[in-house]
Amino acid sequence: MDYVDTHIHLQDYKLNLVQDIVNEAAKISVKRMFCVCSVEEDWKQVEYIAEQYPQIVVPAFGIHPWYVDKITLGWQKRLRQCFMKWPQALVGECGLDGLKENMPQQKEVFASQIALAKEISRPVIVHAVKAVSLLQEFLPFMPKQFIIHSFNGKIQHLPPILKAGGYVSFSASILRNPQAKEIVNFIPENRLLIETDGPYQSISKGEEQKPKFLPILLEKIAVWRNQNPVSLSAQIFANSECLINGK
Ligand SMILES: [Zn+2]
Repeated sequence: MDYVDTHIHLQDYKLNLVQDIVNEAAKISVKRMFCVCSVEEDWKQVEYIAEQYPQIVVPAFGIHPWYVDKITLGWQKRLRQCFMKWPQALVGECGLDGLKENMPQQKEVFASQIALAKEISRPVIVHAVKAVSLLQEFLPFMPKQFIIHSFNGKIQHLPPILKAGGYVSFSASILRNPQAKEIVNFIPENRLLIETDGPYQSISKGEEQKPKFLPILLEKIAVWRNQNPVSLSAQIFANSECLINGK
């Protein structure tokens, strides 16, 4: 059974070595990881990690909504250069976070990243927290493919996202959602993804979330959807391949 982790910040592990995370993941057949940047300082580091594991790690370059105040002059040009170098890279993590106050700047930085993604035909990895109606404003401007990462909203938030062509990725956070079963059943099989968001979102206190969580999450989703875990895993893997191959 092959797994994909569509959202991991390998550069952010403090208690574990990247090498150990990737090797441990390989042992349980995690064949692909989308390694996601949050700030410009991550870009070089994530390039380095992707160079070390070219068969497994696919980079995503972007500015997270929490760090839009850290951008410096020329960031858009430098971001564009990352994509010229990495033909399979995704755009992200970018998006909107209603828990932070600087929404006008968040919107500007997000809009600029989705415009770039659309221009160069790359999928976008979207962080959307407490920003349902705001996100709707941006849906018409999305590139052909985008992922709502770590979805943990309400079922009624899903139709516009799916209609706009979005993929929906689940992490440990969905396990705490009272509507989890209905939500995972609402997603068409060809739009479903899973992720750790490691090292964040650990289920055990004081630990870093690792790819070994993926089989647990997959099993849970398979039970909720009343689906064979082997075929569900294959479908999710195929979905992730569509994203990196621009299909
Ligand atoms: Zn993240």
